[in-house]
Amino acid sequence: TSEPIRLEDWVRDIPNFPQEGVLFKDITPLLQDPKAFHVAMDRLAAHYAGAGIEAVVGVESRGFIFGAPLAYLLNCGFVPVRKFGKLPFETVSVEYALEYGTNVVELHTDAIKPGQRVLIVDDLLATGGTVSASIELVEKMGGHVAGIAFLVELGFLKGRERLQGHDVFALIQY
Ligand code: 5GP
Repeated sequence: TSEPIRLEDWVRDIPNFPQEGVLFKDITPLLQDPKAFHVAMDRLAAHYAGAGIEAVVGVESRGFIFGAPLAYLLNCGFVPVRKFGKLPFETVSVEYALEYGTNVVELHTDAIKPGQRVLIVDDLLATGGTVSASIELVEKMGGHVAGIAFLVELGFLKGRERLQGHDVFALIQY
């Protein structure tokens, strides 16, 4: 009999990336391994089976990697949240603070229907700043954020506190 897959074994620590003092969690080993990627997607899909998710919103860019297959598995549509200037149709925008400066993310104005039950997906929850901007975009369009899913949660950064009132789920906790 084979041992159940431990997903954390497929996430690698990269010291001092993208800058000195940061320990980056690299998820590419998990993506490269057919079994680990498959198990990760199946566990995410199982968690939201029956939750009535009507659209999956993926956050550029690693949120696309997990969001698109999750939408496929949940039998719903996929909607990209993109960095400023990338989406071709009419957009709504939200500006949010980074450690240095600000960033703007956008959503197509026809991407979310009022009242639609939306699942937001990204690879990793750190401070929660990135995903908060996506929540704001979905809510601006009248969508209902029914869940927020991550592969990895860095618990010590307390991003979950910033997302209070939302249903937050992560496959791997640090
Ligand atoms: P937050 O906005 O929650 O502080 O940061 C999360 C965002 O930054 C996510 O979009 C995520 O992709 C990226 N990010 C921050 N730190 C890491 C990390 O250690 N590993 C990975 N894979 N992404 C990170």
